[in-house]
Amino acid sequence: MATLADAPHRQDSSAFPSSPSTLPAASPVAIAARNMRFVFLAALACAFVVTHIPRLAVGTSDSPIDKLIHASTYGVLAALLLLARWWRPVWPALAVLAAWAALDEITQAIPGLGRSADLDDWLADVTGMVIAAAFFVAAAPVGTGAARLLCQRRRIAGDTLLCKFTAWFHLATVGVLGFAAGAPLGVLLDSFFVRKGPQPWQYGLIGGVLGAGIGMHALWEYGVRSRLRRLGETRPCIACGSAMEPQAESCPVCSRARAQTDWAPVAPLQGSEELVACLMPILLSLAGIVVVSASAIVLITVLRLRSEWVMRGDTWYRMLPPDARVLGDIALVALFGAWGLRRCRVRIARSVDRCGERCLGCGYDLHATTPEVHAGTCHECGGGFVRVH
Ligand SMILES: [Zn+2]
Ligand SMILES: [Zn+2]
Repeated sequence: MATLADAPHRQDSSAFPSSPSTLPAASPVAIAARNMRFVFLAALACAFVVTHIPRLAVGTSDSPIDKLIHASTYGVLAALLLLARWWRPVWPALAVLAAWAALDEITQAIPGLGRSADLDDWLADVTGMVIAAAFFVAAAPVGTGAARLLCQRRRIAGDTLLCKFTAWFHLATVGVLGFAAGAPLGVLLDSFFVRKGPQPWQYGLIGGVLGAGIGMHALWEYGVRSRLRRLGETRPCIACGSAMEPQAESCPVCSRARAQTDWAPVAPLQGSEELVACLMPILLSLAGIVVVSASAIVLITVLRLRSEWVMRGDTWYRMLPPDARVLGDIALVALFGAWGLRRCRVRIARSVDRCGERCLGCGYDLHATTPEVHAGTCHECGGGFVRVH
């Protein structure tokens, strides 16, 4: 299988330019980022208008899920801002959005709006942003070789979807349908189980948002997977997503040289191995949640009467509206969940990175049969492998 043509194709997996600003404006990656930026700005404008409608009941303390609305609004905004890829590190995006949230709160204090500026609201905004950022980091590319390449393929598949209007239209439609399905379910659950209710619409809102989120995520996964299958045949540029002629040596848009490994098939890792890799992170994150909550309770109980700061903090926490404390619990679970997800992905990537040594599909040693090629198939099971250095 080893041929002379393999020689010039040694590639550095860290060489995928992931920032759209370093890629030509006409490339699908740059177009997708532009679309995402437009959607972020539109969402930001909508949120600003809604928070400044005079005397709106949703955003005031009369509403028992006010803090949850704050956190989820800014969580969505943070996710959109991070996906818009203006900055590579996460913290500048968070700092800008936190400053914006502060401005948003302060301008609500303008007399005549009938709204008020509230530090607790801002803390809820920041909590939502931190949760979104944690999952963004957890979902960031992992691995160094083959695993990194698979992450890059997924990114290109996603970006070639997001540069099309139809993909956004489908996502929006499924979001609306998911909301329409989830909202009555939320109201039903409220009337059957919670019975809190003078304002059942609030549980309808929670159900609707969850329904929209689940629907859009499912459609996104389906879209990316079917696109990945297609891209394996059309083999566009792995750096910028532009279409390439089958025989072209380099990308016409960003001029990156094509590598044999770019879209070569890779056998999927066995499900049992994924499970083994994920077992420890899942157990550890569950244990982390239990340990942190238990030790917080013990520490506060012990120190409450000895330290004035603990006393003050505890009193502040007890005075918070119930939904703010629920938000605190959600944040604890979400942060450990994001950590566990990241560890699972890192551990799976470690196995996938070794796919040139050992077939991922059957565990067959690949060194003996095909020592030199960059991409090929396992003699034992026929599954593909790549060697990325
Ligand atoms: Zn390119
Ligand atoms: Zn095999």
